[in-house]
Amino acid sequence: MKIVRFLTSDGQPNYGRIDGENIYLIDTPFSDTIKMGDKPIAIDSVRIVAPSAPSKIILVGLNYKEHARELGMELPTEPIIFMKPPSAVIGHLADIIYPSNVAQLDYEAELACVIKKRAHRINAKEAGDYILGYTCLNDVTARDLQKKDGQWTRAKSFDTFCPVGPHIETEIDPRGLKVELVLNGNTRQRCETSDMIFSPEDLVAFISRVMTLFPGDIISTGTPKGVGPMVPGDEVEVQIEGIGVLRNKVMPSPK
Ligand code: MG
Repeated sequence: MKIVRFLTSDGQPNYGRIDGENIYLIDTPFSDTIKMGDKPIAIDSVRIVAPSAPSKIILVGLNYKEHARELGMELPTEPIIFMKPPSAVIGHLADIIYPSNVAQLDYEAELACVIKKRAHRINAKEAGDYILGYTCLNDVTARDLQKKDGQWTRAKSFDTFCPVGPHIETEIDPRGLKVELVLNGNTRQRCETSDMIFSPEDLVAFISRVMTLFPGDIISTGTPKGVGPMVPGDEVEVQIEGIGVLRNKVMPSPK
């Protein structure tokens, strides 16, 4: 099932199930029993927003073997995690704003999962039951500030630095998926999720032993090799096989 979140005519966000060119309203995606409306709504007639409203977004610093090799770093024995605030989240087709005090703004194509139910100290074997599905995420990073600050919070947390979407795919095996970053039509990152060091289930279990996860929380699984810069005017896409394409444009910060 493909789940989207979109604004209805009253401006309220609602969840829906995509069927072809239409969306059908659902009451909640965070349940085993979903009530679905029977009135089709044309996808083209609504504004799609980020596919969940997370209480937090947790990301992983280094989770692809080739990316670790590219950086000349040892493979980590435990995931290195960090966070972005919910205020950084934007959806498909929303603009990434390039802050005026940033010298280098990088893309990072990532597979992300969305949490289905409260997860507290779970193990990796049961983690699949706590994952609603998978989506695309661009871990937008002010690389110069990341190096300058040492701590990553500022570099990762500007408003619009967390594009997510376009929808959640609930019926997909996250192993062996092709992840690509396409900048202005040119492929810049290309990798398979089979190169990951820690699986999504490993990550959800690990993080649930640090902080309780809630429905809608987003866990991003790290970027493959080939990260690089974007400038205002660029169109950037995260494409994941079997899920879809998350497209955003980079715009200059208003004066
Ligand atoms: Mg990243």
